[in-house]
Amino acid sequence: MYNVNSLKAEEFIADEEIKETLAYADENCGNMELVDAIIGKARQRKGLNHREASVLLACQNEEKIQEIYALANQIKNDFYGNRIVIFAPLYLSNYCVNGCLYCPYHLKNKHIARRKLTQEEIVKEVTALQDMGHKRLAIEAGEDPVNNPIEYILECIRTIYGIRHKNGAIRRVNVNIAATTVENYRKLHDAGIGTYILFQETYHKESYERLHPTGPKHDYAYHTEAMDRAMEGGIDDVGLGVLFGLELYRYEFAGLLMHAEHLEAVHGVGPHTISVPRVKPADDINPDDFDNGISDDTFAKICALIRISVPYTGMIISTRESQQLREKVLPLGVSQISGASRTSVGGYAEPEKDNSTSEQFDVSDRRSLDEVINWLIRLGYIPSFCTACYREGRTGDRFMTLCKNMQILNCCHPNALMTLKEYLEDYASEDTKKLGTGLIETELEKIPNPKVRERAAQYIHDIEGGARDFRF
Ligand code: SAM
Repeated sequence: MYNVNSLKAEEFIADEEIKETLAYADENCGNMELVDAIIGKARQRKGLNHREASVLLACQNEEKIQEIYALANQIKNDFYGNRIVIFAPLYLSNYCVNGCLYCPYHLKNKHIARRKLTQEEIVKEVTALQDMGHKRLAIEAGEDPVNNPIEYILECIRTIYGIRHKNGAIRRVNVNIAATTVENYRKLHDAGIGTYILFQETYHKESYERLHPTGPKHDYAYHTEAMDRAMEGGIDDVGLGVLFGLELYRYEFAGLLMHAEHLEAVHGVGPHTISVPRVKPADDINPDDFDNGISDDTFAKICALIRISVPYTGMIISTRESQQLREKVLPLGVSQISGASRTSVGGYAEPEKDNSTSEQFDVSDRRSLDEVINWLIRLGYIPSFCTACYREGRTGDRFMTLCKNMQILNCCHPNALMTLKEYLEDYASEDTKKLGTGLIETELEKIPNPKVRERAAQYIHDIEGGARDFRF
């Protein structure tokens, strides 16, 4: 019944295939010859399939785990360099008609403050985000056809792209809204969105149905097939994710890779990003009510295995995770992080008081954006506000080609440095500016093509003189 090319959820995420994969992994995880052969295949940078990666996930040999970590770090450096892309979520509305058991926005929650931003409020939120230095947002909304119809989402996107405050601009809006129709995906595509993000939550159908007892999200097939509809609607870049803690992590991991394999097989391009959220405490939600929480070590192993299994897919860690944990997984292949996030509706312009929350979940990393940027630079990373790829039409397989041809150092690297320079000029504290200026000087030298290096240096000089928005 398993068929990677099928457009039916239950065939490309076939339960028997996942169960057989887990049994195969249990049988073989102690077979060091096989484990070495799989690591050897990953070393060729061609990725791993769900069966191979599941064997490594089941392998408990400490030496092999350290080898996997080292390889994940190497692959990250080869494909992504030391750049970390920065974004922030923007909550538009927490009205929701679904009954998700892990989310405080569920319909039956009568004491959470329900809010929906007006266009004037969006201007205030986005101005606050621009004043921090953000250039890239992920908009978030509950599912509610009356309060948050697609027209509302589209209007918000238009408003966001239109806001110019001082040197600020939001240059890429990613969208994380409920599964919808091909027609609506086409409208989102035409509105100029970046990535369409939709977390599967769990690939386990029975658990999925139990965890989503009511509302349109109850429909497992409609949700799981959403990315195919998004791609049919013209969206090239899609972002996958599961909410770790709901189901057995090994099941989810196999499902996630099978989903990636399916998109690659059917559409010729795998997921642009994978997110790895874990269930967090929220208004009426206690993560301990779910039996499948994972330790920090397992979390790190999952991140490293995603990196070596799908080298061309970006990996996102949000502020659900603490500074300490983020620091642990950054070298294992993370390419994007959020900073200074608020998960309440309207929380950037007016931080909420404790007694009237509209928050979706508690964030663990509560630092300001400047603190996050400063920390990244001190760790040797280049914080990047780059949004060039999709603005230059390098989406889907065109981005993957750039990545596969290792052109990142001639393209993404200078773009990262130029957007960091803008940040330093417009928003950074004195200390961050000093650190960042030093970093840019050293990192410019790493651009292989001398013409690109020269032009990047000139642009950076021009940014100091007041010019903005250069890109390769
Ligand atoms: N409502 C949209 C949907 O149905 O897909 C997506 C927006 S929702 C704001 C974004 C994601 O937050 C969800 O897909 C879910 O994985 C995650 N989330 C919900 N409750 C959470 C919790 N208590 N802790 C951590 N993440 C949570």
